[in-house]
Amino acid sequence: MEIACLDLEGVLVPEIWINFAKKTGIDALKATTRDIPDYDVLMKQRLRILDEHKLGLNEIQEVIADMGPMEGALEFVDWLRERFQVVILSDTFYEFAQPLMRQLRWPTLFCHKLEVGPSGRITDYKLRQKDPKRQAVIALQSLQYRCIAAGDSYNDTTMLAQAEAGILFKAPQNVIAEFPQFPSVNTYEELKKEFLKASNRQLVI
Ligand SMILES: [Mg+2]
Repeated sequence: MEIACLDLEGVLVPEIWINFAKKTGIDALKATTRDIPDYDVLMKQRLRILDEHKLGLNEIQEVIADMGPMEGALEFVDWLRERFQVVILSDTFYEFAQPLMRQLRWPTLFCHKLEVGPSGRITDYKLRQKDPKRQAVIALQSLQYRCIAAGDSYNDTTMLAQAEAGILFKAPQNVIAEFPQFPSVNTYEELKKEFLKASNRQLVI
């Protein structure tokens, strides 16, 4: 049995924080782990900025719904789900992903969770576990699934390495250069072919 493990942001949907910052014009929300390596410090800063702008979960979800998945993402997920069990492994939060998952017709998603007050104010966040993408692949393998994983960034590389096959999709040049062991593609058509190649079954496009 085979499972396809997909990263979410940069593979099926745009980078949520970056696009949220663009759409709202709040430049301070453009900071990423490249600017503030300590994720906890970064998240606390983001929640503080949302608070300052009086952005609760409802307002945030409206902006995120408007982003939409990447062009061709829904067709790709439909194609993949006909051939593999599909699990999306993401470092986002269920509450942020929800408007986009609706547009992708609710594939299975493993990610993190926000704590939200009655008024919609985001009060805190809970990370499910450390190195969650790799841990999910290990867990699926313990259920006797063979995993084929695709992702675009550093936070995917332990998942790609743990999986029986790993594929880079729309990855930046530095990631491609640092991880030459993974095939690297840029379109959904190419990604389909990599999944077929990585499969141990006789599948067709
Ligand atoms: Mg990503």
